[in-house]
Amino acid sequence: MGPRTALDTLASRLTGEVRQDRATRLAAAHDGSHLRGAPVAVVRPADTDDVVRLVRWAREFRIPLVPRGAGTSLDGESVPPSGAVAVDLSPWNRILAIEPEELRARVQPGVVNFALQTAARPHGLFFPPNPGSWTRSTIGGNLATNASGPRSFRYGSTRAWVRRAEAVLGTGERLTLGTLAAKRSLGPELLVLLAGSEGTLGIVTEVTVRLAPIPAVRQGLAVPVPTGTRLGALAVRLRRTAGTGLSAIEFLDAGCAAALAAGRRAVGPAGTPLLLLEIEADDRASAEARRAAVGAVLRDGGVDAPPTVFDDADELWTLRGESGVVLDERYGERIREDVAVPLGQLDTMLRAVATIATEEDVPVFLFAHLGEGSLHPNYVVDPSSPTATRVRHRLWQTALDLGGTISAEHGVGRLKREYVPRELDGAAVAWLHDVKRRCDPDGILNPGTLYPSPTPARGSSPSRRGSGAARSPSGRASAGSDRASHGRRRAARQRR
Ligand SMILES: Cc1cc2nc3c(=O)[nH]c(=O)nc-3n(C[C@H](O)[C@H](O)[C@H](O)COP(=O)(O)OP(=O)(O)OC[C@H]3O[C@@H](n4cnc5c(N)ncnc54)[C@H](O)[C@@H]3O)c2cc1C
Repeated sequence: MGPRTALDTLASRLTGEVRQDRATRLAAAHDGSHLRGAPVAVVRPADTDDVVRLVRWAREFRIPLVPRGAGTSLDGESVPPSGAVAVDLSPWNRILAIEPEELRARVQPGVVNFALQTAARPHGLFFPPNPGSWTRSTIGGNLATNASGPRSFRYGSTRAWVRRAEAVLGTGERLTLGTLAAKRSLGPELLVLLAGSEGTLGIVTEVTVRLAPIPAVRQGLAVPVPTGTRLGALAVRLRRTAGTGLSAIEFLDAGCAAALAAGRRAVGPAGTPLLLLEIEADDRASAEARRAAVGAVLRDGGVDAPPTVFDDADELWTLRGESGVVLDERYGERIREDVAVPLGQLDTMLRAVATIATEEDVPVFLFAHLGEGSLHPNYVVDPSSPTATRVRHRLWQTALDLGGTISAEHGVGRLKREYVPRELDGAAVAWLHDVKRRCDPDGILNPGTLYPSPTPARGSSPSRRGSGAARSPSGRASAGSDRASHGRRRAARQRR
């Protein structure tokens, strides 16, 4: 028998599916960003033993693996570099158990967020992280990006709602992290390493999440806001006021609200920016009292138009989740940013968002998780153009200068990784690389995402180990998608 290609070897080792047809590869080559990858195959492992076999194979042949849920990430997190194998976990979509007494659910990683919500609802429970993509994104993807949504204002991000997870590390080790106990004081909790790890440490094969009781009343409000309102100051006042029962403080600028009205349905009166709020309460009377408390704060901040009321708050959040999609439909490719600053700096950041748009001469649409100081400016400009690079860097640097972050909830992916050292201490970056090396010594898991390129120590020879060491089946070093690596070179030039 002649020499067998690495991929032929794979097909004979797994019980799951190995697809190499063009249509399947193309479908796994992109996420929600403008980046495009070039996977050589898409693998659908049959079970966790299959994942272990897959990882061992990848180590043997030094082939990158990129775990994939729904592929809705926005910075290239799930874009396979050229020569990689995409590991499609979307068929792993079984809810294994809902345990109402324990307020938890055990799920496979490919379960769609909304499917979990639907299954938990008859038990009077819900899973609080509700990203705008909740009708599509998976629990595995939510964990690996530490996703959040409107209600994270009250409940926090995915990290806070995961009890236990099973994963196969890049070493091929299979392990369970976390505990079923409600609390534990046993060393640093290693489970949190998986939150935001972007598929670079291990492939998550099972997740036990916490659930919360659904409040008796959940009222959504869309409140028109006069242009020029100091939104940051208003958010601070809303957050500081006791007894409001607020679980979400969101914002849509007038352009986003208009796009939503034209593309889906109006959430409030036309031609005005909107605050989107959710009030939780035990009964109608207390909801009214809470609305009155919120109304008083809003009036103090110069906002006194009557709200549009949504008795089903989830209807409001599903519409809000479509904001990005309707901008896609109307304006096409653009920068979809994701910075956050401390609330006290929000008005300064909002001014900077507008100034960048004016000075760079690009339209901007803004939606925001206002109560968390988390902003999604959408600049309508070719995302691979020099202007786009300049806009991103100005935005990220402003967020950092104000004590904020370059990634509030979407992740780092391929687009932001070279900026990570501007946010983290040098020692913290080195620590990140150490964790990566421990979990994935051959750098086979999602190379080219999250970690900045290591700065080689003076006099040292290039290491065989660590991120970026994996090779494509043809034997070429894997450098990520051409456009992504081009972007990195450009970013490096800009810093110089
Ligand atoms: C319209 C729209 C709205 C959005 N709104 C929000 C929002 O409100 N809040 C928010 O936080 N994000 C939002 N996002 C971004 C995105 O939906 C989230 O990051 C989501 O968590 C990604 O889930 P996914 O299943 O699509 O993961 P993918 O895109 O498939 O993967 C994302 C990352 O997770 C890794 N991964 C996936 N599954 C596994 C696994 N089983 N094991 C290990 N690693 C894995 C991948 O390798 C990749 O690095 C939005 C995106 C869109 C398109």
